[in-house]
Amino acid sequence: MFIQGAWTEAASGKTFSVINPATGETIKEVPDGDREAAKRAIDAAHGAFRDWAGTTAYHRAEVLRRAYDLMIERKEHLARTMTEEQGKPLRAARTEVQYGADFLLWFSEEAKRNYGETIPSPRADQRFIVLHQPVGVVAAITPWNYPVSMITRKVGPALAAGCTVVLKPAEATPLCAIEVFRILTEAGVPDGVINLVTALDPKPIGEEFTTNPKVRKLTFTGSTAVGRMLAGQAAANMKRVSCELGGHAPFIVFKDADPVHAAKGAQLVKFLNTGQACISPNRLYVHSSQADAFTETLAGRVGKMKAGSGFDESVAIGPLVNAAAVDKVARQVDDAKAKGADVVLGGHRLTEGALGGGFFYAPTILHGVNDTMEIYREETFGPVAPIIPFDDEEEALSLANDTHYGLAAYVYTRDIGRAFRMFEGLDFGIIGINDINPSAAAAPFGGMKDSGLGREGAREGIAEYLETKLGGFSI
Ligand code: ADP
Repeated sequence: MFIQGAWTEAASGKTFSVINPATGETIKEVPDGDREAAKRAIDAAHGAFRDWAGTTAYHRAEVLRRAYDLMIERKEHLARTMTEEQGKPLRAARTEVQYGADFLLWFSEEAKRNYGETIPSPRADQRFIVLHQPVGVVAAITPWNYPVSMITRKVGPALAAGCTVVLKPAEATPLCAIEVFRILTEAGVPDGVINLVTALDPKPIGEEFTTNPKVRKLTFTGSTAVGRMLAGQAAANMKRVSCELGGHAPFIVFKDADPVHAAKGAQLVKFLNTGQACISPNRLYVHSSQADAFTETLAGRVGKMKAGSGFDESVAIGPLVNAAAVDKVARQVDDAKAKGADVVLGGHRLTEGALGGGFFYAPTILHGVNDTMEIYREETFGPVAPIIPFDDEEEALSLANDTHYGLAAYVYTRDIGRAFRMFEGLDFGIIGINDINPSAAAAPFGGMKDSGLGREGAREGIAEYLETKLGGFSI
């Protein structure tokens, strides 16, 4: 843990194990922090706030820029740490480190653009001035699926705004968090400004974060169930909240789309990170006339994806994060099979040879999925592509919107009018039109409905860490 500028053990001396999901072996032990540790970390962040908020935006920009440079310098080391504790193939890990670093660079630039405004008053003897100031101490909770970028996407804008931070990373991936903190401190973030609490049981830490009066803002990325609970606790204490939660992305292939291009896109985005992404397609709606060509191309491509350790450069499918994740995928696939879905590819656990020690599930394609099946509504977070045929545009739009989630949606069409109708009609925060990667540090990321509150990245990303202050001046 890192509190008030010092690397510390847990007061109890307790630790927990970080597991390599490709082998099931322990990599390292890290401190198992408790509620007291969270409290000390919040005190440190609170004590450091005035000074940090009082630095110039230019200074904070410089620190973040140095952190960006250091992260790029250490890309390979960070990527290897990530592959070891999280499982994704090394190439994907390198891409994530770059994406994570991009938030440091973007927010180092945005720090300098925290503009206020003057507003005409209805009174001749009055002037209005609006300032944006840092909210104060930020408590951040991050997930394991993108263990570097989900940290920089929160800590970058918080620091740029002049906030101080306490972070609790996911229990599966604390080693990436430790590396990110090393980089930030070497870049010149002062003692107390960033604090890291690792813990096996997140619950008491979350309780401290949402009830301690010194915390002014909670930012969370993770499951909808936990986000809802934390947002509720934080709201009861009037803390500002941002949540980036689950998704159930539709991927719609219209009859005018190129089915081969669409299938290639589906393969790349669906199986990215072994399906463990909140923007991963969960329902592939394919026009009946294209279903055969699409399925055949997808199966041909996915059938060639090799599962195994992410350190093997020929591997495209890493392990799932733990045994429970494999069980969940197996349960959804078994339920779909029992209710009549056809297994085009996969549909089973991978336990042969070296894979036996890890948490692997075969890349899977299901055909004939319908709304009676669990997979149709529940987020999968695994390597399963369920194909659902449809016939007309109206039907596709209403099927796609028929979910309580609203994060990402994908559309394949060559009809410009249809592209616009879909862009406007889909109730999701991020829409990819013939595009599977609608995400960058400069672009607002976030969901509607049960997928969350607020946006990360972009101009909006720093606004989440700023308060608006009005000055009325009699002259
Ligand atoms: P997932 O199912 O993807 O692991 P979670 O929402 O459980 O998603 O985890 C995301 C983050 O939320 C992790 O850092 C985890 O430790 C944290 N978390 C889980 N449960 C709680 C809780 N009750 N209070 C605070 N944080 C929690």
